[in-house]
Amino acid sequence: MVKIQNIAGERQCLNCGITLSGRPDKLFCCARCKNEYHNRISGAERRKRDRTFGILWKNYKLLELILDLGSDKTDKRNLLEMGFQPDYVTGHRRPRGGRDEYICFDIHYNMNEARLYNIRRASGLENFVL
Ligand SMILES: [Zn+2]
Repeated sequence: MVKIQNIAGERQCLNCGITLSGRPDKLFCCARCKNEYHNRISGAERRKRDRTFGILWKNYKLLELILDLGSDKTDKRNLLEMGFQPDYVTGHRRPRGGRDEYICFDIHYNMNEARLYNIRRASGLENFVL
């Protein structure tokens, strides 16, 4: 439980900072402050989620473009210049004795320092790797 106190030890509203009186477990001065506080927190989470999904979606569209061009590999540097962010994946696996495989929704690929290769669509249970 988050509680804010000022130097005098008085409890303060988590949203506006006004000194609180009454019940010791009270966190907000009024319902409006409570709503504003919770809306702000959920807004930050929503922005973080949207940003992450936006990066994944851009990666996906770039991988899809390569497949649409009839290729299954590409130069990694060019892809990075186009905004691909290799740290964002929806899955990763390292088959025993095999190469790291990265997953972006239903598109799977292998990657080394120079390129992405073996880019392909997978279907069904192959996509559900944790
Ligand atoms: Zn308040």
